[in-house]
Amino acid sequence: MKIGILAIQGSVEEHKVILEKLGIENVLVKKAKDLDTIDGLILPGGESTTLIHILKTMDIFEYLKEKIKKGLPVLSTCAGLIILAKQIENYPNQNSLDVLNITLSRNAYGRQRESFITYLPIPILGDEPYEAVFIRAPKIIKTGEGVKIHATFQDSPVFVEEGNILGLTFHPELTNDLRIHKYFLSKMR
Ligand code: GLN
Repeated sequence: MKIGILAIQGSVEEHKVILEKLGIENVLVKKAKDLDTIDGLILPGGESTTLIHILKTMDIFEYLKEKIKKGLPVLSTCAGLIILAKQIENYPNQNSLDVLNITLSRNAYGRQRESFITYLPIPILGDEPYEAVFIRAPKIIKTGEGVKIHATFQDSPVFVEEGNILGLTFHPELTNDLRIHKYFLSKMR
């Protein structure tokens, strides 16, 4: 099994470190053809407008969308989640890959200094609460049919799953807890 990490911008290295800890072969995805060599893809956090802009200018956008629609397993976090969402409430004209049936609001918890850590119960990961790091995170305000909600914070979904896509509004690569990456990998085995 080989996992790609979209390596355009954002917290790429941190995901790589986790995959190496788990002994998983990985590759940094920088071009459309890199998508042909992988069994799953991580879309890291960063800045969603920059990610979309670079995906378009480097001609990866359409191919990535097609791959995800055809079932490529994806773990998306924060900005990586924003670029998948069907609707962005406060930036209705922002482009997205339009593959995940959610509506979200960007930067919904405020600025960088309003970033926070909280401990979330996530039943599918076991009894131990999960240390979740939120950095200028989006808030999921609506989920469509077929979207499972694995965790919520203050009544908003923060970990969702629809078909081949996992979406988190927080950063699992910034903690030592490997359970989310393991859950993602377990979907491919
Ligand atoms: N605020 C960023 C955005 O709107 C996301 C932040 C993150 O990925 N940590 O794209």
